[in-house]
Amino acid sequence: MNLILFGPPAAGKGTQAKRLVEQRGMVQLSTGDMLRAAIASGSELGQRVKAIMERGDLVTDEVVIALIEERLPETQAAGGAIFDGFPRTVPQARALDDMMAWSANRIDVVVRLKVDDDSLLARVAKRFEEQGRTDDNPDSFKVRLDAYNRNTAPLLPYYEGQGKLVEVDGMGSIDAVAQAIDAALAR
Ligand code: ADP
Repeated sequence: MNLILFGPPAAGKGTQAKRLVEQRGMVQLSTGDMLRAAIASGSELGQRVKAIMERGDLVTDEVVIALIEERLPETQAAGGAIFDGFPRTVPQARALDDMMAWSANRIDVVVRLKVDDDSLLARVAKRFEEQGRTDDNPDSFKVRLDAYNRNTAPLLPYYEGQGKLVEVDGMGSIDAVAQAIDAALAR
């Protein structure tokens, strides 16, 4: 099974993806994690994306599509991929559909985590204090939320049109959200 965890920044996608990896042996493909690893390694790519990410803007479609393409083969061997933070634009979603089709594969389900803006702001303020992730500062977070609303939310009708969208209340505890996701996947 291949699934997309969809939702605004700080909705809990990464937390839930890691749990699914542990429980189901799937592979998490987080473009955010890949980009942060590139920055930490000091690679040429990392140097190119550092300022963009710190501002909260999206990096280019080509960059993230290439990162995903490189990792797709291993997900098939593992029995499935969890896409976390990708796709974030309609061109990324189209590219993903094409890449999956090349290997006679497809996205099975898109789980939308619904969290209201006030809760997102509260979560990210707490995470900024605890973890100091540079793009969690209030100005960058506003840019990230705007990018979500402008570029990423339009994917909802795209996946709804494909009949793949399921909505999950992302406001509960980590365990409650996990249970709701499992129930959605069992349908
Ligand atoms: P969150 O979902 O909490 O915002 P991520 O770790 O998914 O965090 O993303 C952090 C940043 O990495 C984004 O703000 C953006 O700059 C960059 N990024 C990650 N994934 C993508 C993507 N698919 N397309 C463009 N930029 C991305």
